[in-house]
Amino acid sequence: MNIAMKESRMETLPDRYGVIGHPISHSRSPLIHGEFAKATRQHLIYERFDIAPAALVVQVQALLREGVRGLNVTVPHKETVVALTHELTERAKLAGAVNTLIVLPDGRLRGDNTDGAGCIADLRYLAIEVTGRSVLILGAGGAARGIVGPLLAQQPAQLVIANRGVARAEELVATFRDIRPSAGIALSARPLDGLHESFDVVIHATSLGLQNAIPTVNPVIIGSQTDAYDLGYGDAGTPFTRWAQQHGAARAFDGIGMLVEQAAEAFWLWRGVRPETTEVRRLLSQSGERNKP
Ligand code: NDP
Repeated sequence: MNIAMKESRMETLPDRYGVIGHPISHSRSPLIHGEFAKATRQHLIYERFDIAPAALVVQVQALLREGVRGLNVTVPHKETVVALTHELTERAKLAGAVNTLIVLPDGRLRGDNTDGAGCIADLRYLAIEVTGRSVLILGAGGAARGIVGPLLAQQPAQLVIANRGVARAEELVATFRDIRPSAGIALSARPLDGLHESFDVVIHATSLGLQNAIPTVNPVIIGSQTDAYDLGYGDAGTPFTRWAQQHGAARAFDGIGMLVEQAAEAFWLWRGVRPETTEVRRLLSQSGERNKP
C-alpha cells in the first residue's frame, strides 16, 4: 500500500469512544451513542471496555495511546478515575466523580460529570417541576452527589437529603451549603427513619434497586401531589416506582431518560453536536433493552 492509499484509508477511520466499567456487558451506552452517531452523521465507533479496578491506570493509558478520543466511566471507576485526569470541570469537582473523559487537543485528559445535567434534562422532559417545590433525595452516594448541585440550581424551596448513614448526607449538605446558587433554599440532612412528611418530588438514588429492593422509609413521604423519580431503571418500572404508585404518587418514572440525557451531554462535549433524544428513548422502551440487568 503506498503512502497516499494509507493516508486516505486513515482519513476514513472512525473516531473511537467507549465506556469503561466492571462489569460492562450490560451497558446500553454503545446502543445509545450508536444511535446518536447515526442521527447526527458523526463518523465514530463506541465500544465497551471491561476494566478491573487493579488494571484501571494501565488500561486507560493504553486506550489513550491507541487514540481513543473520549470515554464514559461507570461503576466502579467513577471516583478512582479522577486521579488519571489533568483537569476537572467544576461540576465534576463538586460531584467528586467523573462519568465522562475528554481527550483535549493537546492530549491532556479532562474529567467531567454529566449525570446531574442528564437528570435535570430528564425531569424537564417529564415536566417534573423542581423550582419552588419541596424535594427529597433518598441516598447520598455518588449519583446523589452528582445531582445535588444541578437540583439546587433549579431553586427548589427545600431540599432534604436522607441517607441510611446520615453522616454521608450531612457531608453532602456541608459541601453544597456554601456554594448553593441561591440563599433561601432550605437544605438539610436526615436519617432515612427521620422522614415524617410528604414531599412534592421524591428522588430515589440508593443502589438498592440493583437488588430489587427499596430502602425502608415512612410511606408518608409520598403524597397525592408527589412526583416520584428513580435513578434506577427497569422494563416495567422499578421496585421504587411501583412502591410510590402503591402509596398514591401523582406520577412515578424510572431513570432510563436520565441515562439517555447524560449520554447526550457527553456526546455534545465530545462532538460539539447535541443529539435529539426522543428517538433513542422510544427505541430503548420498545427493544427490551431496559430489561437487561
Ligand atoms: P453508591 O454505591 O455510590 O451509593 C449507594 C447509596 O445507596 C448510598 O446512599 C447507600 O447508603 C445507599 N444504600 C445502599 N444499600 C442500602 C441499604 N441496604 N439501605 C439503605 N440505603 C442503602 O451508588 P450510586 O450513587 O453510584 O448509584 C445509585 C443508583 O443510581 C444506582 O442504582 C445506579 O444504577 C443509579 N444511577 C443511574 C444513573 C442514570 O443515568 N439513570 C446514573 C448514575 C447512577 P449508605 O451511604 O448508608 O451506604
